[in-house]
Amino acid sequence: MLMTKNILILPGDGVGQEVTASAIEVLDFIIKENKLDFLTKSMSVGGQAYEEFGTPIPEEVLNEAKKADAVLFGAVGGPKWDDLEWDKRPENALLTIRKELNLFANLRPAFLFNELSNASPLKEEIIKNLDILIVRELTGGIYFGEPRGVIIDQNPNYAFNTMVYNEDEIRRIAKVAFEAAQKRNGKLCSVEKANVLEVSKFWRAVVSEMSSDYPDVQLTHQLADNAAMQLVLNPNQFDVIVASNLFGDILSDIAATLTGSIGMLPSASLDSTFKGMYEPCHGSAPDIAGQNIANPLAMISSLSMALRYSLNQENISDKIDRAIKEFIQSGYRTKDIAVDDNYLPTSEVAEKIIEIIKNG
Ligand code: NAD
Repeated sequence: MLMTKNILILPGDGVGQEVTASAIEVLDFIIKENKLDFLTKSMSVGGQAYEEFGTPIPEEVLNEAKKADAVLFGAVGGPKWDDLEWDKRPENALLTIRKELNLFANLRPAFLFNELSNASPLKEEIIKNLDILIVRELTGGIYFGEPRGVIIDQNPNYAFNTMVYNEDEIRRIAKVAFEAAQKRNGKLCSVEKANVLEVSKFWRAVVSEMSSDYPDVQLTHQLADNAAMQLVLNPNQFDVIVASNLFGDILSDIAATLTGSIGMLPSASLDSTFKGMYEPCHGSAPDIAGQNIANPLAMISSLSMALRYSLNQENISDKIDRAIKEFIQSGYRTKDIAVDDNYLPTSEVAEKIIEIIKNG
């Protein structure tokens, strides 16, 4: 028996609202076109929820997120809420959902459409054909490790954090990365600081031991500082990179910057059953919010990832990815990636993508 898939839509603040509206247009179209048994529900989150309910993540939203097969998350935040205490700040919604849903695997693809290589800070011959996937551990490591704290009654005062990973945490994130490499170009680079950190040495040993289960994947290891350098010098050597929370955070931002267009990059955060939250890599962009000029392709790509990983619709996901590619190849642009004044407003992008899918 086919089960109804539940999709929770959380547009959030600023351009989050605008880009999510575009993704909803595409989603509504594919549901109708393919007669998909999907149930969608939209709710407030972030600053918007704070204004309505006094909290950025109402209990009801969290419960719906836990029930959903996929959560589409726009972006949250804005100067209006910057001075609130942490539990009231819009960004808290994001971290609460990640934590409460145990979304330990963060998948951040970084790819370049060659037509947009002029937007990259790197030379065309280095960046051309870039297509990498960074798999970042998201619920462990130094960001959550205990003990942590600031001691201010000593001389000198000090602060400390704990970087800790157990074997199970390393295995489950490495498994996601090995399997992703199997579906891509069969190369996995595990990144740590095994030369100085015990936890990294342990990470390397566990990942190495697993590699015999994946004979079709070529496993390599790089130290985090070298990996950061290699991403800039020769990014095309990579296929899939797996890293801890801290190193993955840094490397995925470097990789995103290489493409030069933050409005193009999606992300997925998955639990062990492949339920997940899907969001663009960018924030709420208060500087351009309300102007109908945001690029919604990262959000539409995030929808495509949701269809692929959580909603069992790989074919439809492929169609959306192809449509985005054709959109760019046909010369359509949004303001952030346009070289002149010839660009589509946010509100017309989904219509164009749908037209391309229909003709495809
Ligand atoms: P940002 O990603 O919102 O914006 C950075 C720059 O990129 C801005 O110049 C913006 O105009 C541009 N940009 C972002 N998205 C774009 C799009 N779709 N199309 C075209 N241009 C786009 O980062 P920021 O300015 O550092 O943060 C703004 C707010 O967003 C802050 O409140 C921050 O806390 C929040 N934020 C939220 C998330 C999230 O919800 N996941 C992530 C990052 C930042």
